[in-house]
Amino acid sequence: MKLNKKLVLMSVAVFGYLLVFGVAAWQGTNRIQKPVTPNKDVCSEQTTVCVVSSIPKEDKLKDSKNYKEESVASRKGIKKTYTYNVVSKGNINASLADFKVKANQTLNSALGWGEIASFQEVAGAGNFTLVLSEAKYLPSYSTGCSASWSCRADRYVIINQDRWLGATSAWNSAGGGLRDYQHMVVNHEVGHWLGFGHSSCGGSGQRAPVMQQQSINLQGCKFNPWPHASEVSQLK
Ligand SMILES: [Zn+2]
Repeated sequence: MKLNKKLVLMSVAVFGYLLVFGVAAWQGTNRIQKPVTPNKDVCSEQTTVCVVSSIPKEDKLKDSKNYKEESVASRKGIKKTYTYNVVSKGNINASLADFKVKANQTLNSALGWGEIASFQEVAGAGNFTLVLSEAKYLPSYSTGCSASWSCRADRYVIINQDRWLGATSAWNSAGGGLRDYQHMVVNHEVGHWLGFGHSSCGGSGQRAPVMQQQSINLQGCKFNPWPHASEVSQLK
C-alpha cells in the first residue's frame, strides 16, 4: 500500500510538472506564432470589398531594378517574421513543389514584402495557410470567393490554379509574363492577409500598385508584380 501511495504521489507530481511546463511552452509557441496584423474579412477579387482610398506613390527607383532578381541580399533588415504552411485543394495539375519554391522566392524577395519581412514555410499550421486550389473549390472558402479569381478568406490565402498556370486575359494582353503574374498574385493575396485593401492606378502609364486588381483591369497602368516602397513601408 505504501509503495502504491508513493507511486500515486510521484505520478501526481510528474503530471503537475508536465502540465505547468507544457502550458508555459504552449503559451510561448502561441506568442511567437500569433499573427500580427491580418484583418478578418474576405478580400474577394470579384467585388469591391477592401477598397481603400489611398493610392500608393509610384516607386521610380524600383522601375530600374530587374524584376527577375530574387535575391534576399538587398533586404533592409527584417522587422517582421511570419510563418505559413502550404496545402493543395482539389485536382492539382501544377507541381506543388514548384509552387512552394516560387511562392517562397516571391515572399522573401527584397523587391517585395520580403524587403523588411521574412516568410518561413513550416510543416504545421503557420500564421497563415497558402493554398494552391483547383478553381472550382475557391467558393468553398467563402461565398465571397469566385472560381474565376484567387482570394483571401480569413487565414487562407488561396491561389487559383487556373490563374497560377495561365494568368488572366487582361495581364496576357498587356504582354505580362507568367512568372511576373505569379509574383503579383502571391504578393497581392498575401498583401490582403497582411491587412491591405484594394488600391487604384495612380495615373496612366504608371506602374500599378500591387494591391490594385491587376488581374481584372490595369486601368491604364503598367502591370507590376511588386509592392511599391510606400506599400512595403506600411508594414513597419
Ligand atoms: Zn484583391
